[in-house]
Amino acid sequence: MEPARSSASIPYGTTAYYAGLAASDDPNQDPIAAQIYPRPQEHSILPYESSDPIADQQYLIAERLIHHYHDRALMLVNDRCATYCRHCFRRHFTGNDSGRITPAQLSAACDALASRPQINEILLSGGDPLMLGDDELERILRALREVNPDYIIRIATRIPIVLPRRITERLTRLLAIQPGLWMVIQANHPRELTPEFSTAVARIRQSGIPLLNQAVLLRGVNDDAVVLEELFKGLLRNGVKPYYLFQGDLASGTRHFRTSIEHGLQLMDTLRSRISGMALPVYAVDLPGGGGKIPLNRETLVRTEKNWYVLQDLAGNHYRYPREIQKGET
Ligand code: SF4
Repeated sequence: MEPARSSASIPYGTTAYYAGLAASDDPNQDPIAAQIYPRPQEHSILPYESSDPIADQQYLIAERLIHHYHDRALMLVNDRCATYCRHCFRRHFTGNDSGRITPAQLSAACDALASRPQINEILLSGGDPLMLGDDELERILRALREVNPDYIIRIATRIPIVLPRRITERLTRLLAIQPGLWMVIQANHPRELTPEFSTAVARIRQSGIPLLNQAVLLRGVNDDAVVLEELFKGLLRNGVKPYYLFQGDLASGTRHFRTSIEHGLQLMDTLRSRISGMALPVYAVDLPGGGGKIPLNRETLVRTEKNWYVLQDLAGNHYRYPREIQKGET
């Protein structure tokens, strides 16, 4: 089904299951509705925002392949998602009608991978890779194994959260035979950890596939220590390791979702005093303009100016990230 495109840059679309988790349709009142329903603020695009805030396109080495980090590559296998998250940072690609990776694009991506033997880890993303059919997914995995049977493969997906019944036995059987395969999901609120989610995740784990969670810190959704504590403990209880908590990227029209970095650091301080290290993710940011991912802490935040933070990457380079203090935040 074609996603209905709102006048903003990401389509609108969700599943009946995920919409059913919302207690209200008002995105200003409900943490699930906030992730589903567009708000007028999406039309306010700030000068430092972009549809490609982490500069994927700067690192393209084939039409669907991004090589940014030395030993890892990202393959965009599908532009479709079961739910189009209003905070999505990959707005230049998600739901943009590129569709599924074609055999020619897959072959070009594999040729590019073969020419870079330093790559040993492939992240399958999009869009959502698990929106592909099982046969298509199998074809992609087989093609990657032909380039290098030892690739570590990560599937980035929100399917267990927004469409858990897609995690079928057939799918998990297909994934289970893949050595070195990991699944990285994105749960952002404890209400997403339903019995259906638990069943889907248990099925994935029974297949021997380890699970990590990458949450996004979202204003009005989870910018609260109690909510995050419940989320991270609930994930751990389901056998999913909280891996990252991302500061919001500078994606077009997403200012209303971002918290200040001061607030994020305070949340992490509170969580550190309340939950085990195993439940605690790394608070991190993708540096604007393709600077890469860094942990956010008092070492990497080198200076706070009136309207900007100055952040430092591992090589000592400085980057500016806007300081957008919201009402009620420090
Ligand atoms: S599932 Fe991922 S790619 Fe799709 S809209 Fe949500 S964040 Fe973006």
